[in-house]
Amino acid sequence: MDGKLADDVRALVDEIERDVGEGPATPDAPGAVESAVRQILLEMGEDPGREGLRDTPARVRRMYAELTAGYHVDPERLVGRAIFEVDYSEMVVVKDIPFYSLCEHHLLPFFGQAHVAYIPEGRVIGLSKIPRIVEMYARRLQVQERMTKEIADFLMERLEPRGVGVVVEASHLCAVMRGVRKPGTIMTTSHVLGLFRTADRTRAEFLAHIDRRAPAL
Ligand SMILES: [Zn+2]
Repeated sequence: MDGKLADDVRALVDEIERDVGEGPATPDAPGAVESAVRQILLEMGEDPGREGLRDTPARVRRMYAELTAGYHVDPERLVGRAIFEVDYSEMVVVKDIPFYSLCEHHLLPFFGQAHVAYIPEGRVIGLSKIPRIVEMYARRLQVQERMTKEIADFLMERLEPRGVGVVVEASHLCAVMRGVRKPGTIMTTSHVLGLFRTADRTRAEFLAHIDRRAPAL
C-alpha cells in the first residue's frame, strides 16, 4: 500500500515518522503508557497476560504516537516553498479531503471530510499542501470546532488571502457508539474569514461548490 503513496504524501509520512521517533514520545518514563494500558485492561476485568492482549499495551502506545503525530509536524517544513506569487483572484476550492482525528473528550475517532477554500490576494499555496494542513491538525487530540478554526487561521496567517472558508463534516464514534445520537449523524462545523464572512455572495459560492457532487474522473 505504501508503494502507492504520492511522493509528497510519502515525505509527510517520513517526516511524521522521523519526528515521532526522535526523543521520547511522552515525557513519562519508558513503559509508563504500557503500564497505564495494562491498568485499563485490568479495570475492564480483562487479563492483560492472555495471549491476545500481551502485546496490546505496546501497540496502543505506538498507535497513539501515530495518531497524534500532527503535534510534531513543523508548519515551516510543511509549507516549504509552496507559496507562489500569482496574479489570480478567483476562489480556490479543495473539497472532500478525508481526515481521521481523535476527540479529546473520549480519545475515540471522529472522521469525515474537510472542504477548504480561499480567495488569493497575489499568493497561492500548492494544492497538495491543503490536505496536509488538514492532516497536521487532524492528527492531534481535537474537538471538531477547534480543528475547523485552526485550518482556517493557518491559511489566513500564511497566505494573507482575501478570505478563507472551511467546512468540516464528521461522524463521531463517541456519539455513534454510545448511542447519544443516531448512527450516521454527521456534525458540520464551519469557520469563515475575510470575504467569506463579509460577502454573502462569496459564502454562497463556496457552499454551492461543496454541495455540487465531485465530477466522476
Ligand atoms: Zn468525544
